[in-house]
Amino acid sequence: MAERKPVIITPQQLEEQRAYMNEILNLPQRPRSYYVVTYGCQMNAHDSEILAGMLRDMGMDEAPDRENADFVIFNTCCVRDNAERRALGNVTWLKEVRKRNPNLIIAVCGCMIQQPGMAEKILKQYKFIDLAFGTTNLYKLPELLCRRLNADRAVVEVEDVDTIAEDLPVKRLRRDAAYITIMYGCDNFCSYCIVPYVRGRERSREMEAILAEAQQLKDSGVKEIMLLGQNVNSYGKGLEGNVTFAELLRRLDAMGIPRIRFMTSHPKDLSDELIRVMGESKHILPQFHLPVQAGNDEILHQMNRRYTREQYLNRVRALREAVPGIGLTTDIIVGFPGETEEQFQDTMSLVKEVGYDSAFTFIYSPRTGTKAAAMENQIPEDVATDRIQRLIALQDECQKKAMARFVGMEDEVLVEGLSRRSKTAVSGKGRHGVSITLPGSEADIGEIVRVRVTEIKNNTLMAERT
Ligand code: SF4
Repeated sequence: MAERKPVIITPQQLEEQRAYMNEILNLPQRPRSYYVVTYGCQMNAHDSEILAGMLRDMGMDEAPDRENADFVIFNTCCVRDNAERRALGNVTWLKEVRKRNPNLIIAVCGCMIQQPGMAEKILKQYKFIDLAFGTTNLYKLPELLCRRLNADRAVVEVEDVDTIAEDLPVKRLRRDAAYITIMYGCDNFCSYCIVPYVRGRERSREMEAILAEAQQLKDSGVKEIMLLGQNVNSYGKGLEGNVTFAELLRRLDAMGIPRIRFMTSHPKDLSDELIRVMGESKHILPQFHLPVQAGNDEILHQMNRRYTREQYLNRVRALREAVPGIGLTTDIIVGFPGETEEQFQDTMSLVKEVGYDSAFTFIYSPRTGTKAAAMENQIPEDVATDRIQRLIALQDECQKKAMARFVGMEDEVLVEGLSRRSKTAVSGKGRHGVSITLPGSEADIGEIVRVRVTEIKNNTLMAERT
């Protein structure tokens, strides 16, 4: 793998973008409202918060829906085929809205566009798209929009560089909880995954910049931070000094933010030091998302995951020893090329053995350009569908058993909103990452409430206030 140095976006480059923002603010025909449609993971959700922050600073208000916006951005994902198809379907549908609002500007950005040659291909096929840009030049939105507004033709910009941009405007979705991206990209090249091709090489933000952002969030009353990265466990690679994720967590823990979470982790990079820090911490929540993907060693090898089933289980045991009762979740792929029924049964037995609180289960989706997409022995759809159904049924059973440990337990819930089922109840996540419903009202939203779990109803924990 060729060594690539990250490109740090300078204050001067950000100043130039500020100048474009001001130019847009002075245009008589500028868009007045925006709507961002987000697909994919939390990294994308946070990128959308940054897009919204820039649009706010360009004098636009958030529209109630995409039909009533002057500027619509689709922040896309390409991890699975259906995410791509859904995004393109929705973009096409907006073409009708353009007939009612001829000034509507449509932009497509994110992982889907970052794929080699994709921006040109999409613009050729979907001629009504005004703007297309990738994941690494998000900070250039003001410049790209300005160019589009000043010329009556589509603007495309996708750069094959690995950028880090600090101090971008952000319009956060929640007041009580916030995302902080700590690293970008991925060097792992799991054979099925497109992420390293569209998010670039691993690069970490300076620890001091992350700590400063966290402090600012704490001072503004944020109660929970979620640290984001494709592989947070390898945070620090390429930075000077002995900078590790464990050390970052230790320093954030000392800061006193009530709740700290993170994702995503790679089992091969989950160090003993990190497990120790979790065991000793006051504010890191007792939860861990540890994608296993498969329970069979040969399939794990073909996936290029670089751990064995036993090594994975060893990490699970170490986590449970250091943090008793820890909430464990995972990602699993079924129907990877060549997966036999016997190998699939190894995944089933691993799910039983671990007893996850929840699992994101997927049918393998071939992604052009990845190693696995070129493998010959692709699994027929009906076989993969049958396997995923059996896996989901097993996980449901395991989940019920795993959740039984919470009944009678005292916990703290960060209330996210009113319950969908009752006007006198609210819900949020407990410390282990599981949803909990409790009696309450709108006034509780954004607050941490102490509860005792009383029962399990439809896979949700029900609690009373203490
Ligand atoms: S660790 Fe593997 S699955 Fe995760 S983003 Fe990197 S290449 Fe993709």
